[in-house]
Amino acid sequence: MAQINETVLEIDLKAIKHNFDFFRSRISDTTKFLAVVKAFGYGSDAVEVAKYLEELKADYFAVAYVSEGIALREAGIKTPILVLHAQKASLEKLIEYELEPSLYSPYILKAFLEVVQDRELKDYPVHIKFNTGLNRLGFWENDVDYIIDKIKDIPQLKVSSVFSHLAASEDVNEKDFSQTQISNFKKIAAEFTEKIGYRPMMHQLNTSGIINYPEAQFDMVRCGIGLYGFGNDPEIDPLLKPVASLKTVISQIHMIEPGESVGYNRAYKAEHYAKTATLPVGHADGIGRQYGNKKGYVSINGHRAPIIGNVCMDMLMVDITGIDCREGDEVVVFGNEPTAEEFAATAATISYELLTAVSQRVKRSFL
Ligand code: PLP
Repeated sequence: MAQINETVLEIDLKAIKHNFDFFRSRISDTTKFLAVVKAFGYGSDAVEVAKYLEELKADYFAVAYVSEGIALREAGIKTPILVLHAQKASLEKLIEYELEPSLYSPYILKAFLEVVQDRELKDYPVHIKFNTGLNRLGFWENDVDYIIDKIKDIPQLKVSSVFSHLAASEDVNEKDFSQTQISNFKKIAAEFTEKIGYRPMMHQLNTSGIINYPEAQFDMVRCGIGLYGFGNDPEIDPLLKPVASLKTVISQIHMIEPGESVGYNRAYKAEHYAKTATLPVGHADGIGRQYGNKKGYVSINGHRAPIIGNVCMDMLMVDITGIDCREGDEVVVFGNEPTAEEFAATAATISYELLTAVSQRVKRSFL
């Protein structure tokens, strides 16, 4: 493996294949696989990941915003792209780039109808999102008649799918709630299908949904975090491979005497003689201040080195007392050990937040 000489986010594309194959094996051959690549592919690199997944025959991609879909199209991605959260101002562009909108409210439906009304389009694919309990985006179950009334005489569009999103698919204590969401979604989809007179696809499951409710895989699943190596499940996680590893190097080593402090605000004060290492990674790279002051730790030559003091914009300091290491040595901030999930947990957050926080300043390197 190449020697690291700066901060990089290593992206292991083979790990994506491993995770993709894992989740594909958990669903039936006829269920389509939508790969969620929003937020730069969960912080990795949406274009490279999507190109790779297109080769692996992912059926669909999803992004949050139109700009993210445009980036994929400009990179040559041909696979259908669902835009989960398009805004009114971006709908013209959405059509220009052949992106498929989630229509989740009367407001966005009306805006989309205005954009398509004078266009020579036929059966433009749209996806209708229903809220079944997450209470974030989506039409309500009693909106079916309203939606159908609005779209039934509009030849420009065709409903490609109806979908919904689980609120707590990873939480065993919320099984009843998830099952109610699933049965309500089934009812809504059946009513919608009957009233519109053709059968759109149905989909409701994210990563944890695929693991915990495979019976509700319907026509398609939407897998995000699982592709990047995390299943929100202690039994599944060891079967997946982390895709992104944030690595850096030791810039400088200091010997600190008792009573001396390290970093801004003198937040760390040494009680004993200590050896510290300064690393060229900070909150501008995505490692926030919440990881400072001995919350997070990094891995150096197989040893845990706790982060001491406040995380700076471009640097953080770790305690390397007792660790055999030198300036220029490689440091794993997260990857195989600690995993992104373990590192995130030190600051009471989740892998999703940590992964997507890695800023664009950090060079991506592909394995
Ligand atoms: N579907 C929707 C609507 C989402 O918003 C997301 C992610 O936030 C996903 C699917 C993928 O979820 P996960 O990353 O848990 O697989």
